[in-house]
Amino acid sequence: MEHKVDVIVLGAGMVGAASAAFLAERGLKVALVDRQAPGEGTSYGNAGVIDRSSLLPTAFPRHLPTLLRYLSGQTAHLHFNAGFVPRIAGWLFAYYRESSPERIAASAARLAPLAAHAIAEHKGLAARAGVSHLIRDTGWLHLYRTQGGFDSERRDHDLMRKYGVAVDELDSAGIAALEPHVKPVMTRAAYLSAASSTSDPGALAKAYVEHMQKLGGVFVTADAGGLVRRASGFALASENGVILGDQVVVALGPWAKEFLARFAVDVPIAVKRGYHMHYSAVGNAVPGRPMLDVEGGYNMTPMMKGIRITTGAEFNDRDAPPTPVQLDKAEAAARTLFPLDKRLEPQAWLGRRPNTPDGAPIIGATPGVPGMWLAVGHGHWGIGLGAATGRLVADLVSGSTPLVDPASLSLKRFT
Ligand SMILES: Cc1cc2nc3c(=O)[nH]c(=O)nc-3n(C[C@H](O)[C@H](O)[C@H](O)COP(=O)(O)OP(=O)(O)OC[C@H]3O[C@@H](n4cnc5c(N)ncnc54)[C@H](O)[C@@H]3O)c2cc1C
Repeated sequence: MEHKVDVIVLGAGMVGAASAAFLAERGLKVALVDRQAPGEGTSYGNAGVIDRSSLLPTAFPRHLPTLLRYLSGQTAHLHFNAGFVPRIAGWLFAYYRESSPERIAASAARLAPLAAHAIAEHKGLAARAGVSHLIRDTGWLHLYRTQGGFDSERRDHDLMRKYGVAVDELDSAGIAALEPHVKPVMTRAAYLSAASSTSDPGALAKAYVEHMQKLGGVFVTADAGGLVRRASGFALASENGVILGDQVVVALGPWAKEFLARFAVDVPIAVKRGYHMHYSAVGNAVPGRPMLDVEGGYNMTPMMKGIRITTGAEFNDRDAPPTPVQLDKAEAAARTLFPLDKRLEPQAWLGRRPNTPDGAPIIGATPGVPGMWLAVGHGHWGIGLGAATGRLVADLVSGSTPLVDPASLSLKRFT
């Protein structure tokens, strides 16, 4: 049996779910494809921050003392498999090159227009999907144990301010007023007061998929690897028959690179793995907002499932068994910051951030494959940028005026 749609969306993470929802809102017939349930990949377990500060790439640390601290493994910022690193040497070199102050400023300029819509597009879509309660106006607190740590990030704070991000500077009294349960170990904070966060990113992605289904779209369980080009359009075999689509959106997150290689398309994406664990609260001590321990290398977010601690970057094979050593370091540091009770899961969750060297996603046409659109490489910011990306994808696919000029986000910038 054949099922004909206008658009096949591959991948039901936050990016694919939001894209499918926006496409269905335009009246297009959509089939959203995943091999597992929606929102169960990377989009399940992140820190949940939604903010226009996502314009700032998470850069390679070029400051030597900082790099040495990361490499020493004392904090939760970095872990790597020395045997694996040579396999991504080219990508790491490009990442290093994109992390000069000039290139970071260029990346921020590239992403700022899309990031400016991050919160509004999520709130609008969540409201239409009936799940406004999953997005909260919390702000995001960047905490610094030392004045030196705070001073070393002033350039980033100024860059965010340049693009309209509210960055309020707090001292220890200001931190205590905002977060009374935080222990007095933090000297300074940068409070991104206009940031939002979701209390359950996986549930938010699922809600976007249900919204799409109510608008007539279908969710199909299938392996995207079976997609083939036809004389006109694309075909994908599923258990319920063959899906035919005029256009395809690739939103396969950390799995996009190998999929696209089959179409002779190379996307410069490497995976930064990261872990999370939930903790129960001690009494009523729950943070009011996501908090980043900048020098500790982890984030703590109040979530529906508990207080979630997420770790920094691990460079290892995407599919290698979990090595959650950073979580132990994050937990030890977090316990000096905030009262935490027990771990709530037997094992740490492992996620894979799909990163480009310049920290910005790749959104737009696929060179050499007419009808195929890319929405990949969202790295550290696929939750926050998910809805704005979905809106932009729907604009491009339907030929409407795009939310932002997509030229600077296209794959061509890497060639
Ligand atoms: C620890 C951590 C903390 C983070 N914190 C934040 C944060 O605070 N804010 C933020 O904005 N971002 C954050 N991120 C990043 C964010 O989670 C990702 O950028 C985002 O989830 C990527 O979404 P995606 O839809 O591109 O990919 P995914 O969510 O991974 O979705 C891809 C989907 O493709 C499917 N798929 C793959 N291969 C196939 C196939 N062959 N056939 C069918 N389906 C397939 C998968 O099953 C998956 O559902 C964090 C990430 C981590 C790891």
